[in-house]
Amino acid sequence: TKFSDLALDPRVLQAVAETGYETPTPIQAQAIPHALEGRDVLGIAQTGTGKTASFTLPMITLLGQGRARARMPRSLVLAPTRELAAQVAENFDTYAKHTRLTKALLIGGVSFGEQDKLIDRGVDVLIATPGRLLDHFERGKLLLTGVQIMVVDEADRMLDMGFIPDIERIFQLTPFTRQTLFFSATMAPEIERITNTFLHSPVRVEV
Ligand code: AMP
Repeated sequence: TKFSDLALDPRVLQAVAETGYETPTPIQAQAIPHALEGRDVLGIAQTGTGKTASFTLPMITLLGQGRARARMPRSLVLAPTRELAAQVAENFDTYAKHTRLTKALLIGGVSFGEQDKLIDRGVDVLIATPGRLLDHFERGKLLLTGVQIMVVDEADRMLDMGFIPDIERIFQLTPFTRQTLFFSATMAPEIERITNTFLHSPVRVEV
């Protein structure tokens, strides 16, 4: 498989080429076509496999030309730690650089003010840790009813850190019709239960 065989937005393909990637990694080759078809994806992959691009590239393509509305992000990416969320945000900036899509990074240890401003203005993508996202929600600053695409990254670490109840709550705040891209290095019973509850006939890809 070549990147150009995947039905990615030309602006995404350009950014990928500029990043210097030559061929999709196995998780990218397997997950991206299903994600672009609108399917839910359950990806079983470790860090280092290229999984970040496997959800970011189709997400950018699917969000396309649409416009963000105040307080209503169109896409949500959840990561277990500040560092991981920041890494996803950096990846997003790289791959979306030729588009007009906007993002906000919601992590703890940063004042709410700047994050509030971005949300008020309207962002396409929110990249967040679960606790911080719920803090914003509970402060009445954020609506999740416009979320079309939800990504859960490193679900196994979410489980280790006790975030599964937060993840369930966040799933319940998003529309039933959302598309979910869900990644975990392992499939513990609790993770299996979440995916059975909230994913719709997911395609399971494993590397
Ligand atoms: P990840 O598993 O998403 O943390 O990615 C691991 C590393 O692989 C990162 O440094 C990426 O920039 C890099 N990477 C992702 N996709 C590709 C690719 N198709 N070709 C070469 N490197 C890649």
